[in-house]
Amino acid sequence: MTRLRLAVIGVGHLGQHHARILSEFPDVELVGVVDPNPEQAAAVSQRCRTRAYTSHEALLDCVDAVSVVTPTIYHHSVAAAFLRRGVPVLVEKPICRTVAEANELIDLAHLAGVPLQVGHIERFNPAFEELVRRPLTPLFIEAERHGPFTGRSTDIGAVLDLMIHDLDLLLSLVGSPVRAVHAVGSPVFGGHEDMVNARLEFDSGCVAHVTASRITVKPKRRLRVWAAEGYAGIDFVSRKLILVQQSEELRRYGLRLERMDAAARARLKDEIFGRYLETLYVDGDRKWDQLTAELRHFIDCIRTGSRPRVSGEDGRDALALAERILESVRNHRWDGSADGPSGPSRLPKPAGRLFELPRTQSEAA
Ligand code: NAD
Repeated sequence: MTRLRLAVIGVGHLGQHHARILSEFPDVELVGVVDPNPEQAAAVSQRCRTRAYTSHEALLDCVDAVSVVTPTIYHHSVAAAFLRRGVPVLVEKPICRTVAEANELIDLAHLAGVPLQVGHIERFNPAFEELVRRPLTPLFIEAERHGPFTGRSTDIGAVLDLMIHDLDLLLSLVGSPVRAVHAVGSPVFGGHEDMVNARLEFDSGCVAHVTASRITVKPKRRLRVWAAEGYAGIDFVSRKLILVQQSEELRRYGLRLERMDAAARARLKDEIFGRYLETLYVDGDRKWDQLTAELRHFIDCIRTGSRPRVSGEDGRDALALAERILESVRNHRWDGSADGPSGPSRLPKPAGRLFELPRTQSEAA
């Protein structure tokens, strides 16, 4: 089998892992890594035994595909340059800054007849893969994505940085248009929203509460789904899935409390999980690493010509929903009045401090 010539454009925190993994695929030749920071490009190229470049232009005509892992503001210009040459592109999430830019990439990929994949990596999380294998009619979903402030991705806020992962998962799970969006958000360090909460209503009747924060000490990435078929809970960090469903007995006869004597009622607490509610735990932690799975999928799509699991259209739809959330965040009026504080940049003035720090010994001396 001929080896596909790949390059990684942008080898910072995440791109260096794209480069490492691609350099280890036997059917791939990593022909180069690109980063305007020459030390970073050199360090990663040495580790991956490939060449370093400081601009993607040098590689336009000598690659079969690229992975674009630059800051979001450059996704469009870099990805478009390769798609115009008919080169398949994997672009990190969010696909672009605007839906118009995303549509342009989609059109270029269609015109060239090549795959455009978007790096919504949680779709390759083993726990999520286990979930989507099963029939599920979501009624209510709660998604939480909290992490510490990293100082990276400061060109975007928490919606495009973190929440976009869950927006893509929700759209793929519910499969119905979103009819209403209500969201609030607040910056902590200035610039963009660092905390955000959105309530989404789908045409199907499903409701989702989605929260993202990039200033939380302990990382948390969870999805909980109440569905017609039962309950599903995913911990994306530990890659574990829990499924709960009604037993045949419960479905057929209900709980029939009125027929229970005192002894049967006393046993109920121990019998709820088991006799009435069946539980399945799926541990995906020992399964594949999702970045490897995502990159492998990209290579397979190039070879087979099949549509990527997370297509340009999927990336665009998640971005379009993110834009609606950001608009709702901007328009939120904190005191209800037309000229009062509104949105993330005009918050109500703090009424006071929550607490006073204890005086240090030196201050007290
Ligand atoms: P980073 O700042 O650590 O790395 C970005 C790198 O790109 C830097 O080394 C920078 O010098 C380089 N760069 C800047 N402009 C460039 C250009 N024009 N051409 C080539 N390289 C350029 O950021 P990061 O955390 O690695 O994030 C990169 C992208 O990956 C972002 O789009 C981010 O949203 C995405 N991301 C996705 C996930 C995920 O879970 N899928 C996680 C983290 C980051």
